[in-house]
Amino acid sequence: MAKRHIETEAVHAGEPTPRIGGAVVAPIFQSAMYVDDGDSDYHDIRYIRLNNTPNHEAVAAKLAALEGADAALVTASGMAAITTALLSVLSSGDHVLVQNCLYGGTHGFVTQDLPRLGIEHDVIDACDPSSWDAKLRESTRAVYVETITNPLMQVGELDEVAAFAKRHGLVSLIDNTFASPVNFRPIEHGYDISLHSCTKYLNGHSDIVAGAIVGSSALLLEAKRRLDHFGGSLDPHACFLLHRGMKTLALRVERQNETAGELARFLHGHDGVRRVHYPGLPDHPGHSRARTLLDGMGGMISFELEGGPGDANAFLRRLTLPIVAPSLGGVESLVTRPAATSHKGMSPEEREASGISDGLIRLSVGIESADDLIADLDAALSSLQE
Ligand SMILES: *Cc1c(COP(=O)(O)O)cnc(C)c1O
Repeated sequence: MAKRHIETEAVHAGEPTPRIGGAVVAPIFQSAMYVDDGDSDYHDIRYIRLNNTPNHEAVAAKLAALEGADAALVTASGMAAITTALLSVLSSGDHVLVQNCLYGGTHGFVTQDLPRLGIEHDVIDACDPSSWDAKLRESTRAVYVETITNPLMQVGELDEVAAFAKRHGLVSLIDNTFASPVNFRPIEHGYDISLHSCTKYLNGHSDIVAGAIVGSSALLLEAKRRLDHFGGSLDPHACFLLHRGMKTLALRVERQNETAGELARFLHGHDGVRRVHYPGLPDHPGHSRARTLLDGMGGMISFELEGGPGDANAFLRRLTLPIVAPSLGGVESLVTRPAATSHKGMSPEEREASGISDGLIRLSVGIESADDLIADLDAALSSLQE
C-alpha cells in the first residue's frame, strides 16, 4: 500500500486488529496485571509499570507511525521520556553535547543530576556546525538538541546535527515537542531518538501529562528496560486520553500553524510591538532553515512590546481569549511571560545573555478563530497606547 499521509495515520495507525469486541474506539484496560503462566521474561509480563498493556501498545504504535519510526514508548511525562532516554544512552564517565538553550527541566537534569552520576556535558550552538568538532571528547557518546527552542523559536542546523552524530558514532537525540510530528519527523532526518512532551501538541487538550520516546527497536528496547525499572509509566486511562487526542493532531496543528502565521504577521506590523520571534517570519534568524526543514512553522510565537516588562503585565491582564498560564500546545490559546514562569530559574543576567528579556511574552496559539484572536490582541495593544 502507498505510504499513508499523517492525517490518516493519526486516525488509523496502531488501532487493535481485530477491533476489541468490535469497539470502534479501543477501550480502556483498567487492569494493573494480567493472567501470566510464568513463562514470560520479566520485561514481558503484562503489567502497567512494564509499559505493555493494550493501551500502551496501541498509543505507542500510533506514535511510531506518525514519526515513521520502528517503535515508540509512552511515559508518565515529557521529563520521564527525556531522563529515561538519556540514561539509556549515557553511563558514568560519558560526555554529552547539548544545545545552549534547553527546556528548563532538561537543563536542570543535565547540569544538576547527570554530574552526580559522573556524566559530563558541553554546550553547543546548534546554528554553528563549525564550532562542534572542538567540543568532542574521547568520551562523547551523544548529542542532544531541540527542533524549535523555547522561547525564541530558534531552529538550528538540524540535518547537520544528525550527520555530525553519524560521523562521530554518537547517538543523536532531539526534543521534537514544539514541532510535533506534523511539522518535523526527526527519524526521517537521521536522528536516532525523538522525544516528546505529549502533554503539549500530541495530546492537545491540556488535560494530562505524558511523554514519548521514539526510535529504532534496539534503542527502544534499552529505553523500555530502564523505564521498567525507573517506573515512569503512563497509566492506561491517560494512555486512552492521549490516544484520543492524537487522532486530531494533524487537524489541530495544521490550523495552529496557519493561525500562528497570521498572528505573527499582525504583531510584526503593529507599532506597539518591538520584536516578534516566529520562524515563519522572513526576518527570523532561523527562517531559511525552518523553511527547508519544517513542514509547518508551528503554533508558538514570542514577542516584546515597545513598553517593556511593565506593559507586558498590563497587556496580559487585558487579553480576554488567551489564558495566562504556562505550558502550550492545547486547543485553547495560552500566554505567559517566560521570565516569570519557564525561565524563572535563570538569573536576570543569564536570561539577558540568552536574549530572553523580562518583557518577552510567549503565546501558544490554540484553535480559536484567527480573527477573534487578532481582535483580542489588537484591543489589548490599543488599550496600552491610550
Ligand atoms: C513541557 C516540555 C517538556 C517537559 O514535559 P512534561 O510533560 O511537562 O514533563 C520537555 N520539553 C519541552 C520542549 C517542553 O515544552
